[in-house]
Amino acid sequence: MDSGIKVIKEKCVGCGLCIKACPYAAIRLVDKIAVIDEKCTFCGACVDVCKKFKAIVITRRTFKGQKIENYKGICLYAEHRHNKLSSVVPEIIGVARELKKDLDVPISAILVGHNIQPLADEIISYGVDEVFFIDNERIGDFAEDVQAGLVAEILIEIKPEIFLGGGTVIGRSLLPRVAAKLLTGLTADCTELSIETGERLLKQTRPAFGGNIMATILCKNHRPQMATVRHKVMKAADRIDGYVGKITEMTHIPVPGAELEVLEFVPEKTDTVNLAEADIIISGGRGLKDPKNFKLIEDLARAIGGAVGASRAAVDADWIAYSHQVGQTGKTVNPTVYIACGISGAIQHLAGMKASDIIIAINSDPDAPIFDIAHYGIVGDLFDIIPEMTKQIVNK
Ligand SMILES: Cc1cc2nc3c(=O)[nH]c(=O)nc-3n(C[C@H](O)[C@H](O)[C@H](O)COP(=O)(O)OP(=O)(O)OC[C@H]3O[C@@H](n4cnc5c(N)ncnc54)[C@H](O)[C@@H]3O)c2cc1C
Repeated sequence: MDSGIKVIKEKCVGCGLCIKACPYAAIRLVDKIAVIDEKCTFCGACVDVCKKFKAIVITRRTFKGQKIENYKGICLYAEHRHNKLSSVVPEIIGVARELKKDLDVPISAILVGHNIQPLADEIISYGVDEVFFIDNERIGDFAEDVQAGLVAEILIEIKPEIFLGGGTVIGRSLLPRVAAKLLTGLTADCTELSIETGERLLKQTRPAFGGNIMATILCKNHRPQMATVRHKVMKAADRIDGYVGKITEMTHIPVPGAELEVLEFVPEKTDTVNLAEADIIISGGRGLKDPKNFKLIEDLARAIGGAVGASRAAVDADWIAYSHQVGQTGKTVNPTVYIACGISGAIQHLAGMKASDIIIAINSDPDAPIFDIAHYGIVGDLFDIIPEMTKQIVNK
């Protein structure tokens, strides 16, 4: 059954409340009776305001009638913040280009926000064939309610078989909203994506059961097949000189006002580098013994121009904010240099940092598992070693 919405003419009094409530400007009055047009997304806002008269009836779509063969192409959400493309976007394009080799379909991107149109060329330069964008001052950086509605609208129109986003703070919040609007599934935080060539299904692989198994999930009956991609796991696409793509403005899609108002943006106060973007990360664990000893890590990070990471043991003990946690339930990082200080090397920690180019471990226990993956190991007391390292770097 398709989703449907119906105005019961005998009950409609032409009060117009539904017109005011509709965020998509999909209702108008004709001869004092509400008429709903094709812009309706079945959000139900009109049904809620018409409780008194019960003149609007909605039936939710199930996917029995969905024609899967009508969905073609790979599409991605072009995440951005403060008018800069997020670093996860080239990674998503990288995996999309791999999928394209098997599917032989174009790659498109959805870009919504304010003053974001200039990003379209940058997206295309990574090998994207078409960018669909809506640039409107009513779409703020954090207006996820508005953005999710617009992204869903574009997807309904362009009908891709696959829609991908970043497993970032924004992606983890936005894509579930979009999936719910489209009544399709979503596999979050995938570490691998590939195509099951027989049925052209997207194989969405992610750790499950605490990282003990890798689960591969298929979305057979619903479209688009939606997944978020774990940041820093997939190889970022290189730019392709002179790649030509199309830029399409979706002016016909109305932009509703936001229900949420963002009063202020307060960036996290840190004088070291952002963890996800850092080339050098110095992480501290339970071996630091006391929260005040994170200063040793911060001093070294500042001296070396790196970011501060942490194990979950340190975060759980409230020694440092969760945003610094590296590992399976924290951030995945792949810096050039990762220095693990007083971290034993539990499998869940390794899951977030083992792709680092050079791993240096400082640990007093010569049998600590972190030494199994470290390229350089220093067996000793971190309280002697870290200040000495900082001193030598500062005096260099
Ligand atoms: C579902 C699940 C998800 C998890 N997710 C994560 C995650 O995302 N990230 C994560 O980190 N963990 C995660 N964990 C927890 C993980 O299993 C470990 O408990 C945690 O990583 C241990 O942190 P640690 O290495 O700091 O502490 P410990 O294992 O206690 O290690 C402390 C180390 O410090 C060394 N040490 C002590 N004193 C000194 C000294 N003076 N000088 C030098 N070395 C010293 C010790 O030899 C020891 O090796 C998860 C666990 C589960 C079950």
